[in-house]
Amino acid sequence: MGSLCMIFSVWFVPMTSLPILSSPQPADDQPGAARRSSKPHWLDLTEDQLIEWLSDRGHPKFRAKQIRRWVYTGRAETFEQMTDLPAKLRADLADAFELFTGSQACVSTSPDGTEKILVRLHDGGEVECVLLRDGARRSICVSSQVGCAMGCVFCASGLDGVDRNLTRGEILEQMLRLQHRLPADERLSHIVMMGMGEPLANLPGVLGALDVARDENGLGISPRRITISTVGLPPAIDKLAKVGIPYNLAVSLHAPNDELRSRLVPVNRKIGIEPVLSAADRYFESSGRRLTFEYVLLGGINDSEQCAHELTGILRGRSVMMNVIPYNPVEGLPYVTPSNRSITRFKQILESSGINVNFRQRKGNEINAACGQLRRNRQSPQSDSHA
Ligand code: SF4
Repeated sequence: MGSLCMIFSVWFVPMTSLPILSSPQPADDQPGAARRSSKPHWLDLTEDQLIEWLSDRGHPKFRAKQIRRWVYTGRAETFEQMTDLPAKLRADLADAFELFTGSQACVSTSPDGTEKILVRLHDGGEVECVLLRDGARRSICVSSQVGCAMGCVFCASGLDGVDRNLTRGEILEQMLRLQHRLPADERLSHIVMMGMGEPLANLPGVLGALDVARDENGLGISPRRITISTVGLPPAIDKLAKVGIPYNLAVSLHAPNDELRSRLVPVNRKIGIEPVLSAADRYFESSGRRLTFEYVLLGGINDSEQCAHELTGILRGRSVMMNVIPYNPVEGLPYVTPSNRSITRFKQILESSGINVNFRQRKGNEINAACGQLRRNRQSPQSDSHA
C-alpha cells in the first residue's frame, strides 16, 4: 500500500488492528476460479466515453446522467434494475458491458460492524477492501493493485510481488461493493487508498476512480475526506501535487533512518528518506493539507528509544500527524508486536517533543485481519474453508 495497507489514519482502525472477524460468509464462487468476462467493464468508462457510446447508438446524451445516478446513488447491480431507462437502452447496455466484472470471494464481518470483502477479479486475481463503521463515519479502505512491488518485509500483500495495476473500474467496483453493504439511508463518508498495492504506482487508475468518488454525480465524497497512502515515491508525489486536488497524503515511514528503512521498506534503497520528506513538504505546500506519516511499530526492530528520538529529529519543524501502529503478526513472518513498555515509551518521546501522535492499539491476533492475509490464506489449500 504504498500505502501501508495495514494502516488507517486518524479516524481509522488500522487493518492490522481490526477486531476479531466473524467466520467469513460463503463465497459467491470457488477459490482460484477466474470469472473471465468477455465484455468491457462499464465502470471503466469516463462520462465522455459514456456520452459518446450513447450518441453512437442513437440514445440521448441525458441518459448518461440517469445511468450514473442508478450506479452511484441508486445502488443498481444490473442494468435491468434501471427501471426508468427504455428497455432498448437497458438491453444495449447489457449487451455491451458488465456493470461489475468481479465477484465476492469472501466476506468477513466483525462484531463492531467492520466488514472486509475479498473481491475476485475477472482474471482470477484477488484484492481486499474494508468498510468501517465509526460513529456517523462510514469509511472504506480500497486496494489499488493486485499484490505489491514495494516489498515491505512485514507485509502479507507484498510477499509475492505485484501482478498488475487495477483499472479505475476495478477500484470503483470495490467502493460500490462496500457501499452496497450499507442500509439505504447511510452513505460512504471517507475513502482511504490504503489497501493492497502502492496507489502512487497506479496513478491513472487511482485518480480516475477518485474523480468519480468526489464527483457530485458520483459518490460525492469531498477530497478532504479522501486519503492516498504511499511508501513515498517522490516523482509520483509531485505528479499528485500537480493534479491540484486537495487529497490527504499519508506517507509510510516505518523507520527514522535510511539504514533501517531500507531494510524494512526495500524500495527506500533507491530513494532515501530525505527525498521522501522533501516531496511530502512540497505536497503540503501546494495542497495545504496537513501531512500524515505512518509508522508500524515492530517489536525489537524500530521501537527503541533511539528510534523515537531520531524520528522526532527528522520531523522537527514539520506540521504533521504521526500515526503509530503496533504491529499485528503475520503468519510466516518473523516480526512481533512491541511490548507495552516500548509502546508507552515511544509514545512519550514523540509527544514530549510536540509531535501530534495518534496511537492505535492492537485489538487482537485475529487471522485474516491484516491486509493481504485474507487473500493469502485463500490461496493456500488449508484455508479454503474460509470460502
Ligand atoms: S508491501 Fe505494499 S501493500 Fe504492503 S505495506 Fe508495503 S507498500 Fe503497503
